[in-house]
Parts: sequence; C-alpha cells; structure tokens
Amino acid sequence: MSNKYVYFFGDGKADGDASLRNLLGGKGANLAEMINIDLPVPAGFTITTEVCTYYYDNDRTFPPELKAQVEESMKKTEEAMGAKFGCTENPLLLSCRSGARESMPGMMDTVLNIGLNEDTVAALAKQANNEAFAWDSYRRFIQMYGGVVMEMKPQKKEDEDYFEEILHHKKQEAGVKFDSELTAKQLEELVGEYKACVKKVTGKDFPTDPMEQMWGAIGAVFGSWMNDRAMVYRRQYGIPHAWGTATNVQAMVFGNLGDDCATGVGLTRDCSMGGGGFNGDYLINAQGEDVVAGIRTPKRIEVTLPEEMPEAFKQLDEIGKKLEQHYKDVQDIEFTVQRGKVWMLQTRNAKRTGFAAVRLAVDMVNEGLITKDVALSAKRIPADDLNQLLQPIFDPAEKTKAVENGTQIATGINAGPGAATGKVCFHAADAEALHEKDPNVQLILVRRETSPEDLRGMRIAQGILTAFGGASSHAALVSRQMGKVCIVGCSDLDIDYHDAVIKVGGKTIKEGDWISIDGFTGEVFEGQVPTKPSEVIEVLLSKTLKPEESEIYQRYEQLMTWVDEARTLKVRANAERDEAEIAVAFGAEGVGLCRTEHMFFSHLDEIREMILAEDKETRTKAVEKLLPFQREDFTELFRTMAGRPVTIRLLDPPLHEFLSEHHLHEQPDLGHKLADIMGTSLEAIERRVEELKESNPMLGHRGCRLGIVYPEITAMQARAIFEAACAIKKEDNAEIIPEVMIPLVGFETEYKNQAAIVHEQAKAVMKEQGVEFEYLVGTMIEIPRAALTADQIANEAEFFSFGTNDLTQTTLGISRDDYGGFIGYYQENDIIPNDPFQTIDQTGVGRLMEQGVSLGRGTRNDLKIGICGEHGGDPASVMFCHRIGLNYVSCSPFRIPIARLAAAQAAIAEKNA
Ligand code: PEP
Ligand code: MG
Repeated sequence: MSNKYVYFFGDGKADGDASLRNLLGGKGANLAEMINIDLPVPAGFTITTEVCTYYYDNDRTFPPELKAQVEESMKKTEEAMGAKFGCTENPLLLSCRSGARESMPGMMDTVLNIGLNEDTVAALAKQANNEAFAWDSYRRFIQMYGGVVMEMKPQKKEDEDYFEEILHHKKQEAGVKFDSELTAKQLEELVGEYKACVKKVTGKDFPTDPMEQMWGAIGAVFGSWMNDRAMVYRRQYGIPHAWGTATNVQAMVFGNLGDDCATGVGLTRDCSMGGGGFNGDYLINAQGEDVVAGIRTPKRIEVTLPEEMPEAFKQLDEIGKKLEQHYKDVQDIEFTVQRGKVWMLQTRNAKRTGFAAVRLAVDMVNEGLITKDVALSAKRIPADDLNQLLQPIFDPAEKTKAVENGTQIATGINAGPGAATGKVCFHAADAEALHEKDPNVQLILVRRETSPEDLRGMRIAQGILTAFGGASSHAALVSRQMGKVCIVGCSDLDIDYHDAVIKVGGKTIKEGDWISIDGFTGEVFEGQVPTKPSEVIEVLLSKTLKPEESEIYQRYEQLMTWVDEARTLKVRANAERDEAEIAVAFGAEGVGLCRTEHMFFSHLDEIREMILAEDKETRTKAVEKLLPFQREDFTELFRTMAGRPVTIRLLDPPLHEFLSEHHLHEQPDLGHKLADIMGTSLEAIERRVEELKESNPMLGHRGCRLGIVYPEITAMQARAIFEAACAIKKEDNAEIIPEVMIPLVGFETEYKNQAAIVHEQAKAVMKEQGVEFEYLVGTMIEIPRAALTADQIANEAEFFSFGTNDLTQTTLGISRDDYGGFIGYYQENDIIPNDPFQTIDQTGVGRLMEQGVSLGRGTRNDLKIGICGEHGGDPASVMFCHRIGLNYVSCSPFRIPIARLAAAQAAIAEKNA
C-alpha cells in the first residue's frame, strides 16, 4: 500500500490517468484521463480504493495521513475553481460520488451540493442571482444527505420517502406539478420543514459545518460499498468484495441555474440495438440525479437538443467523437451544461445489450476503429450475451391479433429488447416469494420507477415495465445489462401500489393479471401474447427469414466467422437424433454426447421387458426388440451429422428410471399390462420392481456397471451403432467414424470388459455386411478414480470425455439432484463463489481434470479429450478447458454459439498473455 491516498484532477492537470483504474476506480481514473485529453471537467480529487480497504480493515476509520492529503487537494480544487469551500461570499459546493473498479450503476451512494448552510445559501443566491435555485439546491442537499448519511429510510416498502412526502404536500399546497414551479419562498419553507423532519426522525440537528458535511459524505460513500444492494450486485457480476470503491469529491457545476443550463446522460452510439449515433436524455434546468432517477421524463438529445441548445449540442458531439477515438469504444457520459458551457462529469465504456454488443463490435471492425481480436474479447461481447440474440419475440401474427383486438393498453420507451409475457408483480420481495414457490413463474415487474432495491425482483422477472424514466434510467440500464426485456417511461400507467392495481385508459389491471411487453417497440398489451424465436433462430432454424432480411443475423454471421478463425477448441453438441439439425445450424462440429437412454423413452414397453427379464435368454430376446429402433435412430443421427464425429454413449442411468414403484403407482394399468407381456403375475412384477429399488441410485447400479452385469445390452447397442454406420457407408460411401463411449468407468478392468464386447460386435458386423469402417472406443472420465488412474485407462481407451456433472457430484460429494436446498445460501454467504454444477470448480474438479489430461496423454500422447458435462456451455469453464488442452467441448445446442465465442476468447487471451 502506498502512502498516496488522494489524487487531484483539475486545471488541465491530473495526478492520475486511466491506467490507475484499480486504485482510482473507473470514474476517478476516467475523470483524470479526460483532463489529460483536454476535456472540460470540474476540478476535484479521488480518494483511492485502498482507503476503502483500510476503512473496513480498521473498524471504519481512515488512515491518519488522509486528512492532510484531502485538505491539500481541497486547496487545489478551490484554486482551480476560483471559489472557496464554506465561504460566505463565493462558496464552492462539492459532490461526493462512489466509483468502483467496475461500474455498479446506482448501487452505491452519492451526495450533491455539500457545503450549504444558512450562510452559504445566501451567498449562492446572490452569486447566481437566483434565490429559488439556491434554496432548491439546499433542500436537495438535505434530502440526499438525510437519506444517505443520516440514513433516513422509509420503514415499510409501501411508505413514501420522508422528504418526498413533504415535497409532495408542498407542491399540492402550492397547486403546482413540478418542483421547478415552486417559488424561492416555498423552497425556503421546505428547507425548514426538511430540517425539522431530520430532527424528529434522527434526534439530531442537520449539520451546518461544511467540513463535517464533507467527511460525513465521504464516510457514507465508503460505507455504501457494503450495503445490501451493492453486495447483491457484486455477487451477480462476480466483483470481489475486497476491491473496495474509490470516492470522488468534485466541484459542483449546475444544470439548474436557468434555461441556458441542462443536465444529461448520453451514449456516443445506440446501445440498445447498436445502430444510430449520439443519443441520450437531458433535462433543461435540472440537476443530474433528476435524469437517472426518472422523476421527470427527459427529452431525447438527438431529437430536440440540436434546436434547443445548438451550441451545447455541438460541444457534446465533438466531445463524444474525441472520446470514442480515444477509448476506441462507445462511451456512456454524464454532463452538465452550465450557462451554455458543457462540463463532463463522467465517461465510461457503455453497457450494451447482446444485440448492440454484436452489432457495435462488427461495425467498429469494419470502420477500422478496432481489431477483430478486440471485437471478440469478453469485454466487448461477454459470451453469455449471445443468448440475447436467441431471445424470443412476439409471434407477429399473434401480435397483430392483439393489436386488432384492442389489447394494446399503452406505449413506453423501448429500453431492453425481446418480448416477454408474465403476471403483474409490483414489489421485488413479492417476486422473490412467488419465484420461491414456483421457479417457472412468469412475471413482469411493474414499477413507477426502479431503484437499486428492485434488483432482486428484476433478476427474477421476465420483463420490467416502468411508468417514469428515460432510456438511461436505472431500470433501463440494469435491464439492458441483465438482458431483460424492458419498457420505461410508460406514462399512461397510473400505478397504485396500495391497491395493487394499474389503471390505464379506463381499464384496471390487477396484481397477478397477465400482461405482455415488447421491448423492441415499447408496446404494452393486456393478456398473454405468445412469443416466438429470435431472427437469428428464424434464419438458422425455421428458415422463415432469409439472411439478407435480417441485419442482426448478418452481423452474427460475420462475427461467428471471425470466432471460428480465432479458436482452436472444437465445439460439439450434446444431442440425439431430434436435436442434431439444430446443433448443426448453430455450428456444432460433431456430437460429443448422444445419451442413448433418451432414445429409449419412446420404446418403454420394450425396455421394461428387458428390465423385467429374470434370465439371460429372456433378456436377450427383449433387447433384440430394441435393436431396430436404436439402429434407425443412429442412422438418422449420422446422416444429419454428415461426416462429423459422433460420440454415442452406452446405457448409463439406473434401470429404475424406466420402471419403478412410482410408475406403477401413477399408471394403475401398467402392472397388469407388463404381467401380460411377461406371462407372469402382478406380484412378480411388483417384486422385481422392489428388487430394482436403490437407496442411492446415482451411486448404484448404473453406467458401465449395467453393461458389465448385462453384457447383452452393450452388445445390442454396439451392434446398432455399427449397423447404422454400415448403412451410412453404403449410402454413397459417406464418411462416418462412430465413437463409442463407455460411461462411469472407474477401473481399467471395467473399461476392458466393455470395450471387448464393442470390438467383438464391430468385427462381427463388418464381416456380416462386408463393409469396413473406422471407429473409436473411449470412455467418460466422471469418477475421481478414473481421473487419478487415467494413465491406466488410456492403455486401452482411444478418447476421453469429461463427464463433469458426475465428476462434480462425486468429487464434491454433493448430489447433483439435491443441492438446490443449500447452494443459494452457500453463494450468498460466500462459502463457494459459484454454482459448481454450472461453472467448473477449477481448484477441485479442475485439478482432477488436469491430472486426467496429463496422465492420459502420458500414456497416449495424441489422446483426444473433450468434455460433455453441462459445463461445456459455460464460458468460464470453456476457457478453462482451452487452457488445460482439451480438444473439444460439447454442450446443449442453444449454447453452441456461446461456447464457440468463449473458445475464441480463450485462444485470443492465450495469444496476448
Ligand atoms: C456427466 O456426468 O457429466 C454426463 C455428461 O453424463 P450424465 O449427465 O448423463 O450423467
Ligand atoms: Mg454422467
């Protein structure tokens, strides 16, 4: 830890720059950087993230050197701005804002207008020649400081904020609609009422000493790093608690001095769909938080600012261009126009939807602004964001019907693309409760505006709908980042939290009623409007759109071409006959796992016969009935995969999955039917079912253990695979190299036993059919013992595939079916950071995998190794698989584009390491 805790910026020079992001946080580093490239930024200073760490390590106290350093930077700030903090003639006012390494929009606290008291407010009024402005600034200060520093929060979720309630009454009393219509006198009264409220609620006087105010604000901003919503946010986005936030203290500039002033937030390009240029929201004669809080619905920069403030628009446009050229990325900026001059308060790389991420990245490469490697990086396109391109939209015919039926009830601002339908829910806590009862519940969270407290509910809901706010409001930003469908500023909605109803156009919609929202257009419908797949899906799968009809598909295709050039890791699909076509459309380079048991589900009578057989002869007869079905399934699978490698796994699950007490109970006729088929009694059937029952089936008679005890099953499956291969070979001598995979192997001897049966069948089928074909036999590595003895298993096995579902289950001793009850608690309490069944536990399971790879390749140096557990579609796990040298990952078809991108990102990261 260095001893420099405070970094000054202003007057054309800055102590820091963008490279000090870890120390100064994103906001602080970029304020310094903007000064360094000669942009207009009000002076101030950044207190480093190290102070935050110190603060929490030392019982919420500051390092002793901090005070003197703050005072020194304060002097420089005063000089740069030509004003003095606490001065009764020319007072400097300050803002105090958080700024972590990664942006956490709205999660932490901000205090504006610090330094106001009865004396300085008078000076401010005189200086600005505007009494109403000065008193309005003071009342805003009390409101923010009271809430943030003095912690005056409403007790119940449906209660109004203390200050908002007083303000509301004042406006009613004055007969006005907006805050800006209150007179100086009314605002002065408001200040008195606010102070009285502070005294009543906290028992303390509102502080008048500017220095005390400033230190209070600094403490509160550091304190907000550990508030509940910031912690939830960090957990969701994997931001370590240990990073801490920086605090930025900066001179205030005012967007609310009159009609030549404004405040706004903007994006240098559209971040919703990725097209278009400079855009954003602004409010004339307003202070910054008014735009983001969604209290007044702002105007659009690109629509009205060029006419209303041509000079300011020109400055902004130039600043935007300079920033994009400098940062080589779309910027999300905050600015204030004070008496016609633009001041920059923040710039950061803009958050964007998956749609915009793809489009912007591709367009910027085509413009020559960035390289393909940069475009493909995880920072530009988080691999999971590709999901959004695969998001549903409303079925156009159904939507037309809904419009014709008059069910469209309102239109708002389209802030998060996609279409969603769900039941109306007003509070995040209710959404959580409903979700806990039914994880499949579909909800639309409806709010007047959202605040960070709503985060948990937003995560659960299918869509978010707000009555106030613009495209840069909290609801819009957070939804976009989460990839949620979102509409904001839907001002026709009259939302009544108390009665839990929405009134709109003479209709009343109750909590729990269905509504549907179109995040592309901003339309709101009552009732359920069926959704349908995205354009990418339409081009790729349903072929109802031509590539040239979809701009987003064209960008997707271009991107995926670059992705495939960059990656070395292959991507296969976990697919059976029915999903193979989808998998190929998404770019699967083979099948990494065909679970044969899934194919059995359409031939239950035959498989049940096999299970019920009590001797080998009866069992062989039953098994033979399954042969033609399996052969046909495999033939069709091979045909669709057209020469790509296909790994077929022999039967894996315990037999009771096909026949158990539960089945007999659910289907009262089943026992009799099976007794007839088997020529036996109901009691005999029940007895056999009882015999099959296991207390711990996941660790019981499953996997290769079945094939070892019942070799006729393995023989039949191997024969079906090879006969299918022959059938394909005979069709124009088509290419096919089947890969037969043996599950749940722990001992080399288990492998040998099963492989021998497979080889025997291969030989027999080739001879019978007079066809020669190549094939491989390999194994899953999904038991720790297999990973630890991989050198022995590789003596015989020709390929490995990590079954990380079972490997996680058996390494952690956590049942993959029963962990839901505690995993949430574990994650919330930082016992383990991620769900290990979604993302590989790299230090535990991952270590076994590394060992498996090195032992396996020690024996057979060209051993082909893949993964086919669910982790094969998780970006972090895919990157890990690349690092440990796997040849391919295999995942469910819809995750293939994500896995391809993650594989490219891994290769690029390695190249640049
Ligand atoms: C695995 O265990 O990771 C695997 C792919 O097999 P299954 O999920 O079928 O047990
Ligand atoms: Mg398994």
